[in-house]
Amino acid sequence: MIRKKILVTGGAGFVGSHLCERLLNEGNEVYCLDNFFTGQKQNIVHLLGNPYFELIRHDVVNPYLIEVDEIYNLACPASPIHYQYNPIKTMKTSVMGAINMLGLAKRVNAKILQASTSEVYGDPLVHPQPESYWGHVNPIGNRACYDEGKRSAEALFLNYHRQNDVDIKIIRIFNTYGPNMHPNDGRVVSNFIVQALQNQDITIYGQGNQTRSFQYVDDLVEGMIRLMNSRDGFTGPVNIGNPNEFTILELAQKVIELTGSKSKIIYQPLPSDDPMQRQPDISLAEKELKWKPTIELEEGLTKTIEFFKSVI
Ligand code: NAD
Ligand code: UDP
Repeated sequence: MIRKKILVTGGAGFVGSHLCERLLNEGNEVYCLDNFFTGQKQNIVHLLGNPYFELIRHDVVNPYLIEVDEIYNLACPASPIHYQYNPIKTMKTSVMGAINMLGLAKRVNAKILQASTSEVYGDPLVHPQPESYWGHVNPIGNRACYDEGKRSAEALFLNYHRQNDVDIKIIRIFNTYGPNMHPNDGRVVSNFIVQALQNQDITIYGQGNQTRSFQYVDDLVEGMIRLMNSRDGFTGPVNIGNPNEFTILELAQKVIELTGSKSKIIYQPLPSDDPMQRQPDISLAEKELKWKPTIELEEGLTKTIEFFKSVI
């Protein structure tokens, strides 16, 4: 068996930790690079005894050299409260991180996948969102550090591909949840579950009529690996998400029902530029990757609730 050498940046984060585990289980050698801004050792501690797993404390804004066959570039805080905490750093991470990892891919001739986001569509005027939609992003708002950072990274990936023939893949990830989210992550699914399990008020921002389409993390990891192994010349971007769309109020009610919580719902101000609706058009992923999500909200929430019960 040939073990591929695979670098996962942001590997100690929520998605990265699941990806590292899956890649190791498939017999690869995995290098997990992280600066631990939002990631935790806890997420990968069970992998540390594996001789084919290596943990590297490093920040992607600085170059890093390593001989690998594939790179999954996930390093970047993903929760609005964390990426807005130091917006300049967030942009540096997206842009300089992309340049450094693309430079590495070019130098060692590795294939490289970029974890992009549905945020490139901003507050979309087209619904659901196909990859051909250019988006509706406020370039000077609070979310711009993340949205424009990720849009710049996509442009850089295509530039390295066209100019230097780097083998690239771009995935646009829609809202994903599951075990290994940090209890203080700040994103909606983890917030609601942690609040419900502690019988605290459930904080809905705005009226709760904004929508999101929630994907369970195992479906995402499957999509990432399929994209990395997709046919030569297929670069994406490709949407990976669950098209089942819910209002935030419906999500709150579902979490209360599944946890049997006594929490009540309270309403707080909606943050600026909060997108009103979001739903992936996944026809490209179905055609090119033969991929579609398999885990629906209730099943995924149940597994995630079990995880949070064990950590809080
Ligand atoms: P996360 O915050 O749990 O993980 C991000 C990881 O990157 C953390 O371990 C963090 O410490 C690390 N990191 C941040 N800045 C770094 C830097 N400068 N150098 C090295 N490491 C750094 O978030 P996540 O949900 O696991 O997201 C992973 C990737 O997927 C991100 O790029 C995110 O933008 C993208 N994404 C996620 C979602 C989602 O819903 N989870 C949606 C769209 C896109
Ligand atoms: N949200 C909420 N309560 C919370 C956290 C988030 O109502 O405690 C809302 C947020 O305003 C947004 C949606 O839930 O409309 C999804 O937020 P999240 O931060 O998870 O991700 P986003 O898709 O906005 O990046």
